[in-house]
Amino acid sequence: MNSSEIECKSCGGKSFVKATDYINLRPMNKKMTMGSEKIYTVCLNCGEVVSIKILNPKQLQRD
Ligand SMILES: [Zn+2]
Repeated sequence: MNSSEIECKSCGGKSFVKATDYINLRPMNKKMTMGSEKIYTVCLNCGEVVSIKILNPKQLQRD
C-alpha cells in the first residue's frame, strides 16, 4: 500500500505514522451521538499533522 505519495508540507518528509487520541468527534447539535474517532497522520520527522480523518464519517449524521 504505497499508492498515496504524501509529502509533509513543513519539512518535505515522507515518513508518517497514523495516530488517534481516542476522543470522538461529535456533531455540534447532537451531543448524545456516539460520534467517531479521528485519525491523525503525523510526520515522523517534524511532527506536522498532515491529515486529520474521521474514522466513521457516517456516525456524525446519525440521529
Ligand atoms: Zn515534516
